[in-house]
Amino acid sequence: MLTVNAYAAASADARLEPVTITRRDLGPHDVLIAIAYAGVCHSDIHTVREDWGPVTHPLVVGHEIVGIVAEVGSAVTKHAVGDRVGVGCLVNSCRTCENCLAGEEQYCVNGATGTYGSVDADGTITQGGYSTHVVVTEDFVLRVPESLDYAAVAPLLCAGITTYSPLRHWNAGPGTKVAVVGLGGLGHMAVKLAHAMGAEVTVLSRSLSKQPDAAALGADHYFATEDPQTFAQLANSFDLIVNTVSAPLDLDAYLALLRLDGTMVNVGAPPQALPIHVFTLFGNRRSFAGSSIGGIRETQEMLDFCAEHGIVPDTELIDASYLNEAWDRVLASDVRYRFVVDAATFA
Ligand code: NAP
Ligand code: ZN
Ligand code: ZN
Repeated sequence: MLTVNAYAAASADARLEPVTITRRDLGPHDVLIAIAYAGVCHSDIHTVREDWGPVTHPLVVGHEIVGIVAEVGSAVTKHAVGDRVGVGCLVNSCRTCENCLAGEEQYCVNGATGTYGSVDADGTITQGGYSTHVVVTEDFVLRVPESLDYAAVAPLLCAGITTYSPLRHWNAGPGTKVAVVGLGGLGHMAVKLAHAMGAEVTVLSRSLSKQPDAAALGADHYFATEDPQTFAQLANSFDLIVNTVSAPLDLDAYLALLRLDGTMVNVGAPPQALPIHVFTLFGNRRSFAGSSIGGIRETQEMLDFCAEHGIVPDTELIDASYLNEAWDRVLASDVRYRFVVDAATFA
């Protein structure tokens, strides 16, 4: 086993501190990755703070990982030492259920293995990317195109695929009107990706403070949701609304912005159950949906799409010692638009 440096919190309300963890010896299909950069997702915070339920502490989170292959198992064919690779939110799944066979491993009916906080095949709890190294089975390791800025690319592995997948599934493209609610890590990627797909993109953010940024990201329109006029003005407007907000919202107010057969898809994951009035859905035959990250094949497709279109997240590079402040700033929506940790500073 390999002992490596990482950051974790001792309990749900503790600060992140340096820890050491072990990574398993390489099996025949395993890849050892020397992590270069790790993105900071709001889900890392929800998980450690136990917003979604209890976890086993200390837990190393982080599921936006890029690095270099340092060693490969004897039977590995997909990756070679020196390759630039990525790992997102999944490190394994049953591979035999209907959804896995369809390439939708995130919906594995037997429960996919998450990059952190899941029970692994050997019975240990998976530990994520706030670390110097990780061992992952080759089929769940992505190729990260060399043309994409290495220090900025990591958030594609969660924020990128989580927004790409619903945009594709609900056919965002030329002639469609897409609204993105919440301009954070996921939201800013939704804007970049929907714009690149050719959709007409509207940002719905609480205040006007991010309006100049939204235009630079590719948004065509921008409205502040703290202004009640926004909801009157935009009624019956959108084909697709992607809600990335991490907190509860008045869903009926947003659903009313959908035109005939429009869909609002929630990717934001507040812990609370949220009410919906069915009469809001009856109007315009509206749909309310959820979407979880994306499968491995689609994640590779997303990375290749980003390379083709020159898309990388807007990031702020930090040292590991800044992680606690970075989490506070994410909770205060004071991030433009994703923190990325230089993994050398986990050492
Ligand atoms: P983030 O960077 O913190 O962005 C969330 C945005 O939501 C903020 O920038 C803010 O936008 C808005 N917001 C925050 N608090 C709000 C409140 N009280 N009322 C209204 N708006 C509020 O977070 P993220 O990393 O993008 O993640 C967003 C959510 O998606 C989290 O819940 C995360 O767990 C979830 N997630 C889900 C998946 C999935 O597979 N479905 C994957 C990754 C993450 P404005 O300042 O523009 O209003
Ligand atoms: Zn995430
Ligand atoms: Zn499965």
